[in-house]
Amino acid sequence: MRALRAVLLLLAVNACASRAPVEEPALLRAGDFGAGAEQARLKSDVEALAAAHLEDTPLDCGAFDLEQINLEHQPVCHLTREKARQFVRARFESLGYTVIEQEMEGPAWPTSNVIAELKGSTHPDEVVVVGAHYDSFHAGADDNSSGVAAMLEMARLAAGKRFARTIRFVGFDLEELGLVGSTRFVRELPGEEIVASIVFDCIGYKDARPGAQQALPGFPIPNTGDFIAAISNEQSRPRLEELYALGSRLDFVPLRGATSPIDGSGPFSGNLMRSDHAPFWLAGHSALFLTDTANFRNNNYHRDTDVPSTLDYEFLAGVTRLSAAGIAYWAEGPLP
Ligand SMILES: [Zn+2]
Repeated sequence: MRALRAVLLLLAVNACASRAPVEEPALLRAGDFGAGAEQARLKSDVEALAAAHLEDTPLDCGAFDLEQINLEHQPVCHLTREKARQFVRARFESLGYTVIEQEMEGPAWPTSNVIAELKGSTHPDEVVVVGAHYDSFHAGADDNSSGVAAMLEMARLAAGKRFARTIRFVGFDLEELGLVGSTRFVRELPGEEIVASIVFDCIGYKDARPGAQQALPGFPIPNTGDFIAAISNEQSRPRLEELYALGSRLDFVPLRGATSPIDGSGPFSGNLMRSDHAPFWLAGHSALFLTDTANFRNNNYHRDTDVPSTLDYEFLAGVTRLSAAGIAYWAEGPLP
């Protein structure tokens, strides 16, 4: 029977809502916090980040054996990150955060994760992480300026507020070359408890036409690309259920959830391990992966057509509001 469970489990909204894992006053507080996310700010940040990528000098791809790389899927000669990193850092600083650039050397590439933190007032060693990679191919509007913009907007909402637990915002470096920055971030974590994480990768593309959404193996979804997918592993499933409970009441954006079996690293879940949440799962930390499903919906994936005008900013605002409600709940609420 265990083998049969290697198919992803679809969570039904009603089934989760009936468990009522979120108390009403906490839900309303979290909803008020999330509702503050502003669509116009998200749009202008995506535009600024995409412009930064296009102005930037791409990473030297002479170091790659280009014969060995599928350049359509991984256009390594069009990867940029410096100006986007500066943008993230400057924004965190302008919001009043003290910024840490976590610079690390490695066998392949030096990386610098950009970190801003709001210390918890009563449980500072319990940490909620919000992460998004800031390196991109071409303009990288959906992948992943959408996720970076959401993270920055959540940092704006949280700035100067008090939460029981610590909230840490992280711009991950070099996701596109194999989750390099996030892997190093997880490896260097001090002995603290990551009680919840949200990782964004491609969260701004919507196409509600039937047939626009391609099937994801093992993940039963409609064929209209108008929902955000939230993916957990078994360990982080309580966070997914709480996000569902928040989402079904707050109604910011249609949400579809799936739980990947065991640690999520099994043979059926490869597509669900493709972003910066994977190192969290493999190290035993809680993480949810939020995505519009990238190339399963968006034909601009990793192409020079991934530009800001292709995104749906109402959708991106909905995802940001739901996610902000989630982190407000986890940073303050009764985690097990
Ligand atoms: Zn990508």
